[in-house]
Amino acid sequence: MSQHDLTLIVGKDAPRDEINRVRHLIDGAWADGNGEVFERHSPAHGTPVSLISKGDANDASGAIAAARRAFERGVWSDLSGKERATLLLKVADLIDENRPRIARLEVLESGKPISQALGEIEGAADIWRYAASLARTLHGDSHNSLGRDMLGIVLKEPIGVVSIITPWNFPFLIASQKIPFALAAGCTCVVKPSELTPSTTAILGELLIEAGLPAGVVNIVNGFGDPVGSILTTDPRVDMVSFTGSTAVGKTIEKAAGDTLKKVSSELGGKNPQVLFADADLDSAIDAIVFGIYFNAGECCNSGSRIIVHEDILDEVISHVVSLSQKVPFGDPLDPKTKVGAIIHDGHQQKIDSYVREAVAAGAKIEIGGAPIQIDGLPGAFYGPTVVSGLTPDMPIASEEVFGPVLSVLTFRTMDEVISLVNDASYGLSAGVWSENIHTCLEFARRAQAGTVWTNTWMDGFPELPFGGVKESGQGRELGRYGLEEFLEVKTVQMRIGRTRANWI
Ligand code: NAD
Repeated sequence: MSQHDLTLIVGKDAPRDEINRVRHLIDGAWADGNGEVFERHSPAHGTPVSLISKGDANDASGAIAAARRAFERGVWSDLSGKERATLLLKVADLIDENRPRIARLEVLESGKPISQALGEIEGAADIWRYAASLARTLHGDSHNSLGRDMLGIVLKEPIGVVSIITPWNFPFLIASQKIPFALAAGCTCVVKPSELTPSTTAILGELLIEAGLPAGVVNIVNGFGDPVGSILTTDPRVDMVSFTGSTAVGKTIEKAAGDTLKKVSSELGGKNPQVLFADADLDSAIDAIVFGIYFNAGECCNSGSRIIVHEDILDEVISHVVSLSQKVPFGDPLDPKTKVGAIIHDGHQQKIDSYVREAVAAGAKIEIGGAPIQIDGLPGAFYGPTVVSGLTPDMPIASEEVFGPVLSVLTFRTMDEVISLVNDASYGLSAGVWSENIHTCLEFARRAQAGTVWTNTWMDGFPELPFGGVKESGQGRELGRYGLEEFLEVKTVQMRIGRTRANWI
């Protein structure tokens, strides 16, 4: 697809059959369910993008039944690691081939910029390749020192049927942080993408079929938390739930899944601090602060949404952040030059704005922004780059997930003080430290309560490195070897060698 094609959008009055049609994938076949549909409009352009089958209890139950059957029949779990890896590699190649098409739909449904979406899809293909490599390394342990007459074997087995529930902010990437690892482990899945961004997960379904995945191994049901998400987390035929989304829904899911004692792995929200010591390399740090807060319009679990700055450099840092913020290209997400696109929907834009209004009413100072902005010719919701200072740590804007391009600025004087500011939070997803002193960085990295600590960088990521949170940012890990372990169950086999067992009676 050429760049020109990327600027084509279905017009407001387009016939309905020109709109991208998103169906359920159940037992290897595309299904309309009960025929009910809902629409998704581009949050930037206001035009219709997708017409989506609205899943009901029958669709969810049928998809779970298909996944259960596929698992019990061993059509996937009985394959060798080599066979599973070969298929995952094929999917990675197909993702590469379909990259422009996937990226375009990702842009139109989520409002993220096209250059970023293309990068995310490329990164997703790389994750599928990494997961394929893990499929060939599955192994357990053996215990050969339990005495002459005993051998112990620890087997790793697929956990079974996994419900995979994903959010709207990185739809294809997050599906790719879960599905290939579940498949590498030998599990079968039922996937529910966000109702706001389901199209690219449906494309992934097409690619899985094209790659030759047996029917029923991956099923997709579109729709809402109620009833689809709720059934996926309570049905006794499901063994595990892998969820990414808000902490509030994560807590609901933990409770719902508790009745049948399913394993739950969850990637939830964050209020991630970047800490700047007085000896920081400010050029790099300021760029990373601006990237950390405006990337994906701040709608990012890893958003560096609060900076904690040493008092000696506060004025310098604020003035540099403000001046660099003015240079960030906000605009039409389909324009390749745009770095920040639209907010996911009007209601969310209002929520972002209300955090800012509340902070101002409580005495905070707006250094830049603090209001929605207009992008020429586009009706969608856009929020201006915003920096807010004069805060106390307990203000909602400084302690809650705003999920928008709004940076909170706090200050500190000593390491002990900044560690308590960082750790006195309900979240613990990621944290960052900027200092030219390795001892400062290491002390911070060891004392910060977070799943990931970046030192002199922000938001780098690699398929090899595990990702996840502590405290209310979730439990379990994705990516890396740990990302595979999540989907494995441990079985102990104890073997007696010869007739050496002493009778009890
Ligand atoms: P959300 O929690 O509103 O929705 C996530 C998914 O859960 C959607 O598919 C939704 O339909 C489904 N859902 C809603 N109610 C449900 C229920 N009762 N049972 C089962 N499923 C239900 O989150 P969102 O608004 O789509 O995404 C934004 C949130 O996700 C933010 O809080 C962000 O921090 C978090 N997030 C975390 C990570 C991470 O890796 N830690 C990554 C991306 C997003």
